[in-house]
Amino acid sequence: MTFDWLIVGAGFSGCTLAERIASQLRQTVLLIDRRPYIGGNAADALDSHGILVHVHGPHIFHTRSREVWDYLSAFTSWRPYQHRVRALVDGLAVPVPFNLDSLKALSPPSAFPSMHQRLIDAFGEDAEIPILRLRQHDDPVIRDVATLAYEKVFYNYTLKQWGLTPEQLDPAVTARVPVRLSRDDRYFSDPYQAMPAGSYTSLFQRMVESPLITLSLNTQFLDVPQSGYRRLVYTGSLDELFGYRRGALPYRSLRFDVEHLPVQRFQHAATVNYPNTELFTRITEMKYLTGQTAPGTTIVREYPQPHQPGVNEPYYPIPLAAHRNLHEAYLADLPSLGRPVLALGRLADYRYYNMDQAVARALTLFNSLPGLLSNGTPPLQATT
Ligand SMILES: Cc1cc2nc3c(=O)[nH]c(=O)nc-3n(C[C@H](O)[C@H](O)[C@H](O)COP(=O)(O)OP(=O)(O)OC[C@H]3O[C@@H](n4cnc5c(N)ncnc54)[C@H](O)[C@@H]3O)c2cc1C
Repeated sequence: MTFDWLIVGAGFSGCTLAERIASQLRQTVLLIDRRPYIGGNAADALDSHGILVHVHGPHIFHTRSREVWDYLSAFTSWRPYQHRVRALVDGLAVPVPFNLDSLKALSPPSAFPSMHQRLIDAFGEDAEIPILRLRQHDDPVIRDVATLAYEKVFYNYTLKQWGLTPEQLDPAVTARVPVRLSRDDRYFSDPYQAMPAGSYTSLFQRMVESPLITLSLNTQFLDVPQSGYRRLVYTGSLDELFGYRRGALPYRSLRFDVEHLPVQRFQHAATVNYPNTELFTRITEMKYLTGQTAPGTTIVREYPQPHQPGVNEPYYPIPLAAHRNLHEAYLADLPSLGRPVLALGRLADYRYYNMDQAVARALTLFNSLPGLLSNGTPPLQATT
């Protein structure tokens, strides 16, 4: 049998396109993943104690996009959930993002009132200011606030997470870190924040349940004969696709250390960051995220490490100009495959996407398919 489409990768990008192609175009899809499970990095599974654990680290769903929310709501009902993070600093658990309570906890008691007042005078109540703006402010008191947040909560965490100082990273990464002039301690401020009422895995299973979609796990791209499909969607890494001929695209990886404990609750927030102590960056207690009730609890520690192809997973593209140039060069190699290919997703685009952004990208690409299919002379290549 020849499928209309081969889709490589059964994460949010691949499953969204498979679902759209089957339900809207009524075409056949062979959806493959080399892993033994569906869902890509958003996969979840029960551990040996019956606790639902996110296999590739904690995944919290949040979006500003009504379109993405409505689209995914066809495959799951939701459990309302607001994520909260604390950072353990000088023995105190302070809210992250850094807010007025974090400032009050970490600043000298005599300094807090004037810092607070100067911030409100400069930016107004409830403002959310990128830390870079505070660091460049004319008022030295406001710069002191920025220094406090930067040094106590942000600098060492970034160093651990990336193996680079904030200055070595793309300035956009530092510029985005917000300081909140309110007591709002929710990690995200998006209008839609929730977790699948069941599991991510059941959401994915519903997305691909059409008889027009054949799901094949434990299957590598190179396992599928070229005669088996007409068009190709590829959500894996481009450097791997081309045998690393231009060199490997750098990623940051993580080791997850999962521990089950015979207690109801381990910590007072879903995630606790350890910016200045320990080798791990953070501990997440899974039951907060999933809402599961059980006598025991499972926690996940995250240890950042360099990515080594074939040894560990490529998780975070490292946002530096030289890496983006290398990715561009691989994109320019796509025509040499000699057949239509659409490349998308966090690996093929070499871009960090939240789950909603991966879905939005796949929906946008699907909506542009008629134009691409009629105008494009193969190979097709989607622009991001
Ligand atoms: C630690 C961590 C925490 C995160 N937390 C959040 C969060 O809280 N909220 C949020 O919105 N987002 C979060 N994300 C981002 C989220 O994981 C991504 O948005 C999402 O996984 C992107 O989906 P994707 O389909 O593009 O890629 P992936 O999920 O990576 O799927 C790609 C799939 O392709 C398969 N594949 C690749 N190459 C081949 C090949 N040659 N043959 C066969 N199969 C192949 C891989 O096995 C993989 O399953 C987090 C990411 C990480 C790393």
